[in-house]
Parts: sequence; structure tokens; C-alpha cells
Amino acid sequence: MAYIEPAPIKDKDNPLESMMSRFQIAAEHLGLDPEVYDVLKVPAKQVIVSLPITMDNGSIKVFEGCRVIHSTILGPSKGGVRYDMDVSMDEVKALAAWMTWKCAVVNIPYGGAKGGIKCNPREMSAGERERLTRAYTQAMHDVFGKDRDIPAPDMGTGSREMAWMMDQYSRDYGMTVNSVVTGKPIVLGGSLGREEATGRGVMISALAAMEKQKINPFKSTCAIQGFGNVGSWAAQLLEERGVAIVAISDLSGAYYNEEGINVQKAREYRNSDSNSGSLEGFEGAVKINSEELLLLEVDVLVPAAVEDVITRKNANEIKAKIIVEGANGPTSAKADAILNEKEILAVPDILANAGGVTVSYFEWIQNRLGYGWTRERVNRRSDRIMKTAFDKVYATAKEYGVSMRIAAYIVAIDKVAKTYKYRGGF
Ligand code: NAD
Repeated sequence: MAYIEPAPIKDKDNPLESMMSRFQIAAEHLGLDPEVYDVLKVPAKQVIVSLPITMDNGSIKVFEGCRVIHSTILGPSKGGVRYDMDVSMDEVKALAAWMTWKCAVVNIPYGGAKGGIKCNPREMSAGERERLTRAYTQAMHDVFGKDRDIPAPDMGTGSREMAWMMDQYSRDYGMTVNSVVTGKPIVLGGSLGREEATGRGVMISALAAMEKQKINPFKSTCAIQGFGNVGSWAAQLLEERGVAIVAISDLSGAYYNEEGINVQKAREYRNSDSNSGSLEGFEGAVKINSEELLLLEVDVLVPAAVEDVITRKNANEIKAKIIVEGANGPTSAKADAILNEKEILAVPDILANAGGVTVSYFEWIQNRLGYGWTRERVNRRSDRIMKTAFDKVYATAKEYGVSMRIAAYIVAIDKVAKTYKYRGGF
């Protein structure tokens, strides 16, 4: 399959510019009205707060937090809150826009947002993190809301922080509002199936891509970078469907077994008390260089760790037939052109990892219904949404003669732009 596509403007390290360059290409293909382009290229709202927190030693430290709402055109905005020292406004703005496109691609009625606090959660006690989370939630009380803006976990935050957020918001509101945040512990209204949802969506995307490329899963191989939530679930679910997972990796290094790694054993090894979440010392495979994993001759490559790992420096050497982006932003804008040239089918992040936000949406629905769905129902519905979205993006790629990445942006921007036109403005 060949793609006709203008080369991206330039290689970007800045995530906002990288997102914008793809947005611009898709907008051109779509013939997007320049006025609508102007509306969608900027965030709808940006809020910055200072959060003075009493630390365990009695001192007061002021943290900076932000929330960027890119769009509420499709519905209440949705997006995670990141705790990280590298949080920057540009990054949060890009991630907020990504959420708008992601929700639109899978056709769920949400806009996009993202939040962040500049902090190092690993150096903070549970008490300090709780006070910071509660202060942030209180400062954002008028921003958040079950029909307004719904936060979720992201880097450095998890179900523990979401429970504090839900509780603080509810206290300030005067009654329990569990649908104001997703990614909560199950006892507080979290959804069954949320933990594996992103990896499951990666599996559905990978199988759909293999079908298009006429690859039999039972005779296929896959390498997965990152063995956290997304990577390890994708590995397990793909293995269950016959795919040989020949390589996995985490921060400790990469592990290769040409016969296929026993994923269950690797997960058990990682989870055992003595290994504190790491694959270091895993014996079911030989250790290889981390960078080598990306260059293996496999049918499917799943980057599921961090951003910018497939760049103009290594894209030429990638031998996988299919790339399924579990991580957000693993491919740089310049690498896109090289992958297209090599006719590698890349299923983009805003489609491939949208299983997570899809089940977050189910969590929100269940909270509002006051009724919990079975895991089977959650899986069945999210599988259907992911497959429908994949087919739509694939068909759009064919129609416009573009990569699946640009097609995903075309699908998303078209939907948001049409909705904007109907809703109208001032
Ligand atoms: P995680 O923290 O659970 O796991 C990350 C994994 O990547 C760990 O195994 C870590 O050791 C490994 N890793 C980190 N840097 C690495 C490197 N340089 N080389 C190899 N491995 C490395 O995180 P996660 O929730 O699995 O998220 C992974 C990616 O998926 C992120 O980009 C995240 O934004 C994205 N994502 C996650 C979800 C979700 O529901 N968790 C949803 C959408 C997108």
C-alpha cells in the first residue's frame, strides 16, 4: 500500500508542534474551513493554580498545577492528570488536544483536556501526595464536573489519587459525585475491565491490522516495548490469540526468545515481591539491547512505554510490518514519512490506545446509572467500539490515500468540525 502525503513540516521534539503538524496535514486533506481550523488549533480554556502544601517536615512548598481544556464541542472534556517534574504548558496543551482527537476517533461524546502538577511524586510521602491532590481538586472545583470536565489518571497518578479527587470534589460539592473522575478503585465505582482496557484495545487493533495485511496471528511474531499496564496486558491478550511474543522490555532492558516468551510467567516474575515491578533477571529469554527490540524482524511492533522512540534516526531500520502504538506519541513527526515510505502499517496512538478512554467512558456511564456492568459486557462493548473505529480509519486512509495516522486525524477533525458548525458560535 502506498501513501500520498506531504512530508510533515519538520521533526519536532515539542509535542505541541508535533501534534499540530499532523493536525495541519489532516486539515489540508479535509479542506477544513480556515475559521474552524483557528477554533480547533487553540485550547478553549487554560487554568493555572498555585498550591501551597505543608510538607511532612512542617515547611510550606508551593506547587504549580494546571488544567487545559482543549475542546468541549463533543461533550464534557476528558483527560488525565499528570504528576511529573517535566510538566510544561506546551506538553499539557498537546495532550489535551490529543484527547479531543482520541475521543472523536472512537466516537465517544467527550471533548479533550489534560492536567498536570509539576512535582516528583516518587519523592513525596502518601500524606504529601494526598494534600497536594486535595488542594488541586479544590482549586479546580469550578473547572471539574461530571458534565463539565472529568479527570482521570495519567503518568504519576493512579486509582489512589482518583479516590482522593472524588472524595474532595464530593466534600466541596456537598454530596457524593463519583462520576466526576474515572480510574477509581472498583469499590468507589471503578469499572471492571478498566485495568486491561488499553492493552485490550491494542490487541484488537493489532489483530485488525494483521487481518488487513493477511497475517495469520497463529503464525505471527510480536515485540513489545514497555511491560507496564499497557504493554503487559497487550502481550498477554495477544499471546492468548496465538501471537508469539518474541520480545518484551522495561527500564531494566529487553528480553528476547525466538520461540515466544511465556507472558504469564513474565508477568508473575515482574509482580513477585522480590522483583519490585521489574523484569531484571527474568530467565525465560535472553537479554538484548533495548534499542534492538525496536529493530527486530517481527510482524508486529508495539511501542508501549514512552514517547519519541521511533524517530528519523531509527525509522529506516525498523523491520516490523505493522506498528501498533500503545504509548502516546511514540513516533516523531519526521519518522512518519519514513514509515510511510517503507509501507509499514502504523496504527496511530489516538486510535490504538483509545481502549482506555473508552472504558473510562463506560465507568462514567455506570456511575451515572448507579449500576455496575459485568466484565464481559465492558469487554464486548469496548471491542466493538475499537473495531468500528479501526475500520473507519482504515477506510478513510484508503479514501484519501493517506497513512492511518493522518486518516485518524481526518476522522476526528471532521467530526469535531461538523459538530462545531451545527452548534454554532458567537
Ligand atoms: P506504566 O508506567 O504502567 O508502564 C511503562 C512501562 O514502560 C514500564 O514497564 C517501564 O519500565 C517501561 N519503560 C519506561 N521507559 C522505557 C524505555 N525507555 N524503554 C523500555 N521500557 C521503558 O505505563 P502505562 O500505563 O503502561 O503507559 C505506557 C504508555 O501508554 C504511556 O505512553 C501512556 O501515556 C500510554 N497510555 C496508557 C494508557 C493507560 O490506560 N494506562 C492509556 C493510553 C495511553
